[in-house]
Amino acid sequence: MRLLVIEDEPKTRDYLKKGLEESGFTVDLARNGTDGLHMASTDDYDLLILDIMLPGIDGWAVLKELRLRKDTPVLFLSARDALDDRVRGLEIGGDDYLSKPFAFVELLARVRSLLRRGPPRETENMLIGDLEIDVIKRKVCRGAKRIELTPREFSLLQLLARRRGEVLTRTQIASTVWDMNFDSDTNVVDVAVRRLRAKIDDDFNVKLIHTVRGVGYVLDLRQD
Ligand code: CA
Repeated sequence: MRLLVIEDEPKTRDYLKKGLEESGFTVDLARNGTDGLHMASTDDYDLLILDIMLPGIDGWAVLKELRLRKDTPVLFLSARDALDDRVRGLEIGGDDYLSKPFAFVELLARVRSLLRRGPPRETENMLIGDLEIDVIKRKVCRGAKRIELTPREFSLLQLLARRRGEVLTRTQIASTVWDMNFDSDTNVVDVAVRRLRAKIDDDFNVKLIHTVRGVGYVLDLRQD
């Protein structure tokens, strides 16, 4: 699998190349939009990782121009986490969107998922029982009740929901949601899960987030 990373920031570019190569991909780099567009147009890549803020022509323009010719899957990277950016990116033909700073494991999961799924999905809504997660609009409901989450709580819920039925350890959760490793005796993850539960589960009969003693947490429709 050949990937093209279009990113002007040397640190991020090298970090992505190193990580992706270690994960078995062949990686080419472009440091600005003009080179990136040229490479993406003339060569066949399985996936593009495209930064939005680039010198010269920016990521939006690169994608617009590229979409006239090719439907290579595109994962946008942005320092901004504005809803407008996400929607705009998806509307003009991006396939997924990740805001910086991101955890490498999250990027890798998105890359693999894009390579697996082929043509872009329209939406990324998740429905688990009466829990509805609109990933693009970042909107969460249980039944008719709208639930307001902080960005961190949303990431945590999204992770648990994507890996539904799978027990996630505190370390896995910490490295994905916080992009760092916590000492095993910190309770940052437990505190965050407790807050999320208060919003997602406390007012409802059917509980979704379950503790697996000594291991971690799982989101699923089941009895404790
Ligand atoms: Ca940039």
